[in-house]
Amino acid sequence: MSILQENISLRPYNTFGIDVKARYFAEAKNVEDLVAIFKDPLSKSGPLLVLGGGSNMLFTQDFNGLVVKISILGIRAVENQDEIKVSAGGGVVWNDLVNYCVEHGFAGIENLSLIPGTVGASPIQNIGAYGVELKDVFDECTAFEIETGKLSKFDYAACRFGYRDSIFKNELKNKYIITEVRLKLNKKAKLQTKYGAISAELERRHIVQPTIADISAVVSDIRVSKLPDPKTIGNAGSFFKNPVISKAQFEQVYQKFPEMVHYPAPDNQIKVAAGWLIEQCGFKGKTVGETGTWKNQALVLVNHGHASGQEVYSFSEHIIQTVQNRFGILLEREVNIF
Ligand code: FAD
Ligand code: NAP
Repeated sequence: MSILQENISLRPYNTFGIDVKARYFAEAKNVEDLVAIFKDPLSKSGPLLVLGGGSNMLFTQDFNGLVVKISILGIRAVENQDEIKVSAGGGVVWNDLVNYCVEHGFAGIENLSLIPGTVGASPIQNIGAYGVELKDVFDECTAFEIETGKLSKFDYAACRFGYRDSIFKNELKNKYIITEVRLKLNKKAKLQTKYGAISAELERRHIVQPTIADISAVVSDIRVSKLPDPKTIGNAGSFFKNPVISKAQFEQVYQKFPEMVHYPAPDNQIKVAAGWLIEQCGFKGKTVGETGTWKNQALVLVNHGHASGQEVYSFSEHIIQTVQNRFGILLEREVNIF
């Protein structure tokens, strides 16, 4: 009997709540499961999709291949002097890892509180929020090579992290499954409070010397107030990346739109707030059929209940086109489309 299940609904496995089917489906709780799954000849009969928490995906059609859900658990910490290395299985819920670190006083990922999804997916797009990215604390990850079944280690340099980007989204796309991630954390916190929302909320709570637990609580509360909860309104967080454009292009647009929200980016480039661009085009809180944008953040596309993936995708096309026509800036999707 094959260990692969057939014709499985992916609705419980994606935070957009899109109802499509996977031709084959398997869950891996350890590396031995991965070996067994890929030994099955049916695993080679179509495309492959590695699935974590499904919080960065939009399914636009049935998946006519194999979906492998990564459920490898376990967290362990090795301490020495000021530094702590924490390893977590690819299937650990990211926020469980954040809570573990905050409870133990391990500093570095408190700004990444309440990001949905799994540890194994965190290096894929180098998750980031409130001025901290995974790359700032990343030590190494272990990955299963699908073709050979061998495990390899990837250090910081090998991952080639960029803004919501890594080698796993590019040259190594679909070649490796991340089974474990190791982070390098600190006992002495170097808090990152430069994002206005964090400093304003700390001030409102009269917290002058915040701890990492304070930062985690503040970030979590801001997120709950600003973002739709996927358990009630399907979404995949920010649908588009913030465009990073050249200074020359920025100057041109800025002349016409001096109120444009922007921040300096590496290599003398400028990061423009995609949410602002979309909001200026009148999309904030707009509903179109069963889809739309979130009332508190236009960058988040939502499923009001029965949207198809195709409907959400078409709406995203319309947004891209409208923003391009008005500002001459091309939005790129952050969410993975299948
Ligand atoms: P999935 O959606 O399951 O997969 C995402 C990609 O990673 C896919 O290409 C998949 O094939 C691949 N993948 C998954 N697991 C593995 C693995 N073990 N090995 C190899 N490839 C794998 N993102 C941010 O960066 N910052 C935020 O602040 C943020 N906020 C969000 C808020 C909300 C409400 C939501 C719904 C999403 C948000 N996101 C954010 C997006 C999302 O949470 C992250 O991208 C997260 O890392 C996705 O994890 P996942 O396990 O759900 O991955
Ligand atoms: P926000 O605070 O309203 O800010 C709008 C945008 O401006 C953000 O996207 C952020 O870029 C940028 N920004 C704000 N202050 C900045 C600063 N001091 N320096 C540099 N850039 C700054 O954004 P938000 O939508 O409420 O999100 C808050 C944080 O959570 C952001 O970091 C965002 O990326 C993250 N988030 C991500 C997702 C996702 O799915 N990827 C979903 C929700 C929230 P950055 O995005 O580069 O930080």
